[in-house]
Amino acid sequence: NDFKEALAQDEISLHYQPIIRLQTGEVAGFEALMRWQHPEKGFISPGIFIPVIEESGLIVLASRWALREACLALKRVEGRSGAKDLFMAVNFSSHDFASEDFVDGVYTTISESDVDPGQVHLEITERLLIHQPDNAKETLEMCRKAGMSIAIDDFGTGYSSLSYLHYFPIDTLKIDQSFVRDMTKNEASLELVKSIIALGKNMKMKVVAEGVEHKEEALLLRDLNCDLAQGYYFARPAPEKDVTELVKNWDPRAKL
Ligand code: C2E
Ligand code: CA
Ligand code: CA
Repeated sequence: NDFKEALAQDEISLHYQPIIRLQTGEVAGFEALMRWQHPEKGFISPGIFIPVIEESGLIVLASRWALREACLALKRVEGRSGAKDLFMAVNFSSHDFASEDFVDGVYTTISESDVDPGQVHLEITERLLIHQPDNAKETLEMCRKAGMSIAIDDFGTGYSSLSYLHYFPIDTLKIDQSFVRDMTKNEASLELVKSIIALGKNMKMKVVAEGVEHKEEALLLRDLNCDLAQGYYFARPAPEKDVTELVKNWDPRAKL
């Protein structure tokens, strides 16, 4: 109940986490992550409020708001930093996909913000694809046709069958942070990370490693030919103002 009010009261905001191209060290784009600063309860983590607003159906409103906000921010960050062709990844849930006018809504929002649809990446989970395969396929194909990219979030944690990878139009696999975290300590996780990178290459998909917290992981992922990475080692999610400065002052050689 509080959430609608919170949107109106500007208690909801987005933070943006840079995503780095591992071969060059440049900032390639961002992931938009929702934040709720509650007046009494303080900071509420999206891991807590997203499932609740999903259940209440408010997620559709929230996602639309987030997409608009993120596209406008991308435009401003590019304008103020001089950077070009950055992408913005936005998270969507299965409830968004169930809404009739999802594709129209997304496309209208992108057009109104004057961002190229090719700069927008839709992040979804494997679970969403498995639960509504036919609906999701049609929706994703329309998004793809309109120029957007599709990324599978938390890849490797959701479903064991890989047959869905060529059934759906998928551009990017995001390796779940649990594998990246264990990669340098545990041989099995390292083999999994290598396999996901090889799978992505073979299927002509980009691979993003999530949750990179240490230099050792970043260098290893680069040597394994992983395309992109995000994590606290490179930068924490931060408000628009901070990421604008970050992009302006970014030294591609500093971290890799
Ligand atoms: P996610 O999509 O997997 O997002 C990545 C999460 O990992 C974010 O948590 C991010 O802050 C965190 N993270 C980034 N780098 C590191 C790192 O190096 N180490 C560790 N330990 N964590 C790192 P956050 O922001 O708390 O978001 C949690 C989840 O909430 C997201 O997971 C996503 O599923 C959901 N979420 C956030 N914003 C939105 C949104 O706008 N819409 C929807 N549908 N879901 C959202
Ligand atoms: Ca995500
Ligand atoms: Ca993830």
